[in-house]
Amino acid sequence: MSKIYLDYAATTPVDHRVLDTMLPYFTETFGNPSSIHRFGQKAEAALETARETIARWMDAKPNEVIFTSCGSESDNLALRGAALAARKLRGANHLLISPVEHHAVSHTAEQLAHLFGFELEYLPVDRYGVVHPDTVAAHLRPDTALVSIILANNEIGSINPIPEIGALCRARGVPLHTDAVQAGAHLRLDVRALNVDLMSIGAHKFYGPKGVGALYVREGTHLVPMQTGGGQELGLRAGTSNIPYIVGMAMAFELAQREMESNTEYLIPLRDRIIGQVLEEIPEGHLTGHPTHRLPNHASFVFKGVDGNALLTSLDVAGFACSSGSACKTGLPEPSEVLEAMGLTREWALGSLRVTLGKETTKKEVAEFLEVLPQVIHKSRRKLA
Ligand SMILES: *Cc1c(COP(=O)(O)O)cnc(C)c1O
Repeated sequence: MSKIYLDYAATTPVDHRVLDTMLPYFTETFGNPSSIHRFGQKAEAALETARETIARWMDAKPNEVIFTSCGSESDNLALRGAALAARKLRGANHLLISPVEHHAVSHTAEQLAHLFGFELEYLPVDRYGVVHPDTVAAHLRPDTALVSIILANNEIGSINPIPEIGALCRARGVPLHTDAVQAGAHLRLDVRALNVDLMSIGAHKFYGPKGVGALYVREGTHLVPMQTGGGQELGLRAGTSNIPYIVGMAMAFELAQREMESNTEYLIPLRDRIIGQVLEEIPEGHLTGHPTHRLPNHASFVFKGVDGNALLTSLDVAGFACSSGSACKTGLPEPSEVLEAMGLTREWALGSLRVTLGKETTKKEVAEFLEVLPQVIHKSRRKLA
């Protein structure tokens, strides 16, 4: 039903230049990179070139880039891998994460607590969902196995001060992981500037294919492999490499990082127009997340007394594909944990709306959306009453 896509935080279409780069690797250069013969060598060369490309744009070394099947897998490998290694090497048993993590991080951390006996502690966030470095400093312990804090939040767009938090963790000898999956298209992912030991990305959030991701693992960071088998990916992730997708991700990452400035310049005024007009025209609505320190394509709100799921359905009927914060797609709506952690009450948190723009979004589409939204919200409030 929707004709206008405003949900680029959920996923992005594959850039045509990316698709063109991928295609020969399905049929012509199809070898297994582990094979000795020429077919294998060609595939291996493509694999290592892709690794070098990603490493270059992260300011990392090629042997610090591990390919995975998605952003979630990168998060899983980082958390479970680093936690189990830290326990084995230094008896560390304490995990620190923020309450505004993606489920790929929070559910992994909860499993580590419930099944493996780790002590899991959540860092407080401010009303914008931001973690402050001094809070991290106050919670770090000698037996902290790992700290994991999202770089840019998928739900509310806020950006965390990862370079400062990273410097703190490094001084205390505790590894820091950041989930940068949402940031790939919009922020510089320079691991040295960010001061991180582990960083997750996923290609489909930056105009690459779904089903491929990477984990940056700083040299000297200890990880227990999560998928065992052949010795692929420095022994950290067994399985024959998905060459077309990896080649596609490298191309997508390079394009996203290289074209970032012009995309950002285009997106910020569009985003700010949405934020400005929504707050001005719609009563009892708030911006969620930080007003300025947020992703350039990201506008997110809560509206008092609105059923977020019904709102999304009405918007879909009206022709617009948006998202909300609530994880539940059917049945009883539950307010999102992220919004609750920021101190929003249920009455507000259930009425969340996320509008995320992409490089293909036009000014006309934004204008059409802003034309329709106030009436749709007005109607969904009446229905609820
Ligand atoms: C999308 C997303 C993920 C999961 O990535 P997949 O590649 O879809 O598994 C993890 N973290 C954040 C912040 C995301 O936005």
